[in-house]
Amino acid sequence: MTPQTTHVFHRHLHTTLPVAVSGRGVTITDSQGRQYIDASGGAAVSCLGHGHPDVLAAMHAQIDRIAYAHTSFFTTEVAEALADDLIAHAPTGMSHAYFVSGGSEAVEAALKMARQYFVEIGQPQRSHFIARRQSYHGNTLGALAVGGNQWRRAQFAPLLMDVTHVSPCYEYRDRRPDETAEQYGQRLVLELAQAIDRLGGENVIAFVAETVVGATAGALTPVPGYLKGVRDLCDRHGILLILDEVMCGMGRTGTLHACEQEGVVPDLMTIAKGLGGGYQPIGAVLAQKRIVDTFAKGSGLFQHGHTYLGHAVACAAALAVQQVIRRDDLLAACRRQGEGLANRLQQRLGEHPHVGDLRGRGLFRGIELVRDRATKTPFDPALRLHARIKREAMTRGLMVYPMGGTIDGQQGDHVLLAPPFTVSEADLDAIVDRLAQAIDAALASTH
Ligand code: PLP
Repeated sequence: MTPQTTHVFHRHLHTTLPVAVSGRGVTITDSQGRQYIDASGGAAVSCLGHGHPDVLAAMHAQIDRIAYAHTSFFTTEVAEALADDLIAHAPTGMSHAYFVSGGSEAVEAALKMARQYFVEIGQPQRSHFIARRQSYHGNTLGALAVGGNQWRRAQFAPLLMDVTHVSPCYEYRDRRPDETAEQYGQRLVLELAQAIDRLGGENVIAFVAETVVGATAGALTPVPGYLKGVRDLCDRHGILLILDEVMCGMGRTGTLHACEQEGVVPDLMTIAKGLGGGYQPIGAVLAQKRIVDTFAKGSGLFQHGHTYLGHAVACAAALAVQQVIRRDDLLAACRRQGEGLANRLQQRLGEHPHVGDLRGRGLFRGIELVRDRATKTPFDPALRLHARIKREAMTRGLMVYPMGGTIDGQQGDHVLLAPPFTVSEADLDAIVDRLAQAIDAALASTH
């Protein structure tokens, strides 16, 4: 399929894409019979791999009953069952799930839910969000506004609401040699406190952050105590904490929610990707009871909604994905195989002259590439090293999720790995082997 022979408005108009015709387990096969190990789960989506029989059976069963019933007329048994399931395993105090069709929609809904909450409780002056640089929260205008990725924002900047961006928690680049990790975290909390003071705490709706940063910075994990400090600070000012776990959540880091590992409970949490595992487009906002009660006792209406909210087949797929994860103890598998992946990466790439940092949790692993390890100098963004790595990996039958080194000119190119939780030892061997080859081939191609 070349750009001249397609009527699909592909994002990359100069790229010729292979045609995926089937997927089983961790492998996708194209129309030429070539096979690819899905080491990124697409974009950290396919947590169960492809073609899982139990998920397909649940979807078929739901289609046979009813595929779609608009939520202004009906609820469905399956939407109720999925919400029950999510809330039973949600962080403390979460009482309801608001369903949408993906991550950006979840973020939009969370932003509006947070704003309306303050209107409902008589604080309509709160109109400002604070978020972080080197974050990605989706491509719709609200989500793009809270996101800090300059490259994605640049041409749409005049359309975006005014959001204050503070530093991300980026230990590899920003922790000073004279600081402990904890002190670094405290410094970041202080920076946030200063931003809040400048805006006036009473004017801020929420602080929005990915618990573990995915798409812009390759599995950046928070330092100990940082998010707890953020939580306390938000509480002191009555500001909501929205954690975006669209990419890092639903088991990807080895616990169902990444915030469990921080001992932090958000007011609103967005989930998507691994919720439906790619079998259907679905996301959700999980909300604290206090917020939902406010709506219930107040206007009685969340003024927001989309046509496919709570789609029955999407809910059936997500419920089946979550049940399989629990039944097959796949969070433990994610932790175990995640360690195995980290060890293999360390062995093979730990001393590589152009690998600056290996990081992540569970089966969410990032590799940051640098021109110079000692100075952490990134490669020239014009080289598009990340894109070269992706290409070289694809020719070796490997899917990885690369990111450019263009953001604020501060960071290097990254590769993100997020294979299905069902990935085997042999798959991990092949993933690391092919990735190491692809990195070297991509580097050689820049000379
Ligand atoms: N939030 C985060 C943290 C993400 O990583 C993404 C997508 O990568 C989104 C939101 C947007 O999700 P979607 O692409 O499903 O709209």
